[in-house]
Amino acid sequence: MSTQQQATSVTSAPREVQEFLRSAPAHLVGGTKRPSGSGEEIEVVDPSTGDVISHIARGRSEDVDAAVQAADSALRSSSWTKVSPATRESLMHRLATLIDENIETLAFLESLDNGMPLPLAHNLDIAGAADVLRYMAGWPTKIAGRTMAFESPFGNRVMGQTRREPVGVVGGIIPWNVPFMLAIWKVAPALAAGCTIVLKPAEDTSLTALFLGDLVLDAGFPPGVVNIVTGTGPEAGQPLIEHPLVSKVFFTGSTTTGIAVGRAAASHTKPVSLELGGKSPTIIFADADLEAAAAGAAEAIFLNSGQICVAGSRLYVQKKAYDDIVNRVASLASKHVLGNSLDPATTLGPVISRRHKERVDGYIDAAESDGAELISSHSIPEQGFFVAPTIVTGAEHGAAITQEEVFGPVLSVYPFDDETDVLQAANGTPYGLAATVWTSSLGHAEAMIDGLECGKVSVNSPGFPYPGLPEGGKKASGYGRDLGPESLDGYLHSKTVIFERS
Ligand code: NDP
Repeated sequence: MSTQQQATSVTSAPREVQEFLRSAPAHLVGGTKRPSGSGEEIEVVDPSTGDVISHIARGRSEDVDAAVQAADSALRSSSWTKVSPATRESLMHRLATLIDENIETLAFLESLDNGMPLPLAHNLDIAGAADVLRYMAGWPTKIAGRTMAFESPFGNRVMGQTRREPVGVVGGIIPWNVPFMLAIWKVAPALAAGCTIVLKPAEDTSLTALFLGDLVLDAGFPPGVVNIVTGTGPEAGQPLIEHPLVSKVFFTGSTTTGIAVGRAAASHTKPVSLELGGKSPTIIFADADLEAAAAGAAEAIFLNSGQICVAGSRLYVQKKAYDDIVNRVASLASKHVLGNSLDPATTLGPVISRRHKERVDGYIDAAESDGAELISSHSIPEQGFFVAPTIVTGAEHGAAITQEEVFGPVLSVYPFDDETDVLQAANGTPYGLAATVWTSSLGHAEAMIDGLECGKVSVNSPGFPYPGLPEGGKKASGYGRDLGPESLDGYLHSKTVIFERS
């Protein structure tokens, strides 16, 4: 069925989707589905309606322990260690093909679970994830160390070598905003490196990770190579970080939780990769193609209702173009259609939960009470957890709406004079994830690339992720990288070997 023909109700979802929603809540442990030891479950809520559409298992430390033990056994078992790099590549390609074959089901599940409009789930989240898997599938046969000859202090000829080994059992903890893609961003490099993994998806969006677990088994990966434990952060995430058999933790999520994760890992001398929040600036110079720049600025904040780590939530416009750009972005915002994520007419879905809606609304209300002006022209659907696209002008730069990650369709806008002025403002938050610059001047572009304190700068482009280029931040946006060879490096341990003729 094409995306355009999809219906808006769960009951009219494809048969595979309905069957999956009805399946018994279970973790994936050692190639087997098993309910939580406690038998507890968590409700799965469709954010477009607020209805309960399914249940997942509520994992606790005993479930995490079983999953880590299974991952550890798989790591040591010849069924995984003897798999040649070329076979690892073909298993990963098979998994990517299975994702392609199941893309409609996956996109439907994601759209229902997360609230992202169905085409976005299809084209960015699921298709993008298959691309990442294919990119990472190219690596297993190319992982290599270095060799060098030198003399020992006693004059003997010595051969030195570095070997690149999988770091071991890794724990992956991911957020709810682009769930399937972020799951693959952890699972693909782990498989390419020869690690085994225990993945804990966010409790709000675990369905596509569980479906991925089924596809991993169908693809022929040995049991225990990929394990999935669902549940809450404190109940299932924390024991995963603390488990002695987990060699490294790869976390994506908010800065507040990331700091707690980093602390917990540090007390076990465990390395951790932290991909954290952002408050990314879009910078528009007056010499830019203003139509393209306004479209880019609007997309940067309204895509997935602003629930994107690199969302352009602050907009700086050179004074001469300020009114023009604000009007254009407001006009683009007004054209968004808020509605059920499965409705083909919808361009802006709900935010993830009632709690998150209240949080985002709280930021908007506080900005208004502090004297900022709001531009917002939508009425909110009665059902579900919707936030209208909102443009905020005149807020103090130090205000919470501009300094903190709101993670909703809310844009703070400021005028600027020149390069120095805008760099100071753009770098003036604790975060350093990404930035976008719109200009026709190479000089402006280079000054921004040099001066912006962040992990990624896009020029005259929305800057969508590409599997071969790393994503990640600095400052409060964390450290470590997803995607590219830099990501794979994080899953490999370097062992130095010295040979000396006796
Ligand atoms: P959270 O930090 O709340 O949660 C992220 C994950 O951590 C979830 O699986 C959560 O579980 C788990 N978790 C929560 N508490 C703990 C704990 N004490 N120990 C271990 N795990 C825990 O983030 P959100 O889910 O709200 O996601 C949004 C955030 O993710 C934003 O800040 C966004 O910027 C960031 N992000 C960063 C990206 C990057 O590349 N830098 C990419 C995408 C998103 P549960 O929710 O089930 O309780």
